Amino acid sequence: MKPVRTRFAPSPTGFLHVGNVRAALFPWLVARQAGGTFILRVEDTDQAREVAGAVEYMRDTLMWLGIDWDEGPDKPGNFGPYTQSERKAIYLEWAQRLVESGAAYADIRTPAELDALRADARANKKPFLAREYRPENPPTWQPGMPLRFKSTPKVYQWNDAIMGTLSAGEEAVDDFILVKSDGLPTYNFAHIIDDNAMEITHVIRGLEYISSMPKYLNLYEALGFDQPIFAHAPHIMAPDGKKKLSKRDGAKSILQYRDEGFLPEAMLNFLASLGWNDGTEQEIFTRDELVSKFDLGRVQKSGAVFDERRLLWLNGSWIRSLDDAT
Ligand code: GLU
Repeated sequence: MKPVRTRFAPSPTGFLHVGNVRAALFPWLVARQAGGTFILRVEDTDQAREVAGAVEYMRDTLMWLGIDWDEGPDKPGNFGPYTQSERKAIYLEWAQRLVESGAAYADIRTPAELDALRADARANKKPFLAREYRPENPPTWQPGMPLRFKSTPKVYQWNDAIMGTLSAGEEAVDDFILVKSDGLPTYNFAHIIDDNAMEITHVIRGLEYISSMPKYLNLYEALGFDQPIFAHAPHIMAPDGKKKLSKRDGAKSILQYRDEGFLPEAMLNFLASLGWNDGTEQEIFTRDELVSKFDLGRVQKSGAVFDERRLLWLNGSWIRSLDDAT
């Protein structure tokens, strides 16, 4: 068995709210339980969405919660750099290899041309699949041109450590952009290169990525990479239980809770128990108990409703336990 290595890979686009922080907590628990390594990787390849100061703010959030990392932009390790914009040469090398093996092609069509092809698919009452509209004579790819993956459609069945056995038909596999015209990779490409290069054993992230899994599996095969364990955590739902919690529904920065007097122990307890329990009635878990008891296989498959009253209750319990200790 390979040593466990997990990662939290935020994009520096704003503050971390309860939804985002669970994507850090679960892999951290898995790594700590196994005596493995937890990595912080900054995914900053979408520079238009970047928010100044977001990386520092995220670091402060994780540190307040006691979610510590062993390798990251500020913690040198054997797999750096840990900021994607500093790894451009690595992505371009893999891009070149895919071009050489015939698994990627230059796509210099304009957004308007691509829109016209989408309209064509709509007119034919078909879902748009880029692989059905490949350019006929693409130029030889060179950096500065968008590069698109040439997929090999097939049916997939795979296992997700939270969601169980999943499958999808050929229509879920399509060509997608690997490298943009600015020379930076897309998330879809960069995270796979990095997870492989950083020897990540468990890719744990939010459910929003699950529908892309067949595309990712197809790319893993084209690259000749072994697959890690995948785990997609269900969404945290807004209090009405109907939609995913978002900043619009009052999902606020975790650090705002700190400023309002919440204890990090209570917040950690709250975050872990959103959609997870150990199979008993226990509700109060210390950090050490969470590390020893957490189990991806016991994370519920359906969305967990965000209930701030429960956080208040947990915080009260934690505050009283501090009282008892003095
Ligand atoms: N950068 C992605 C995000 O912030 C990370 C997803 C992943 O963990 O692979 O959503």
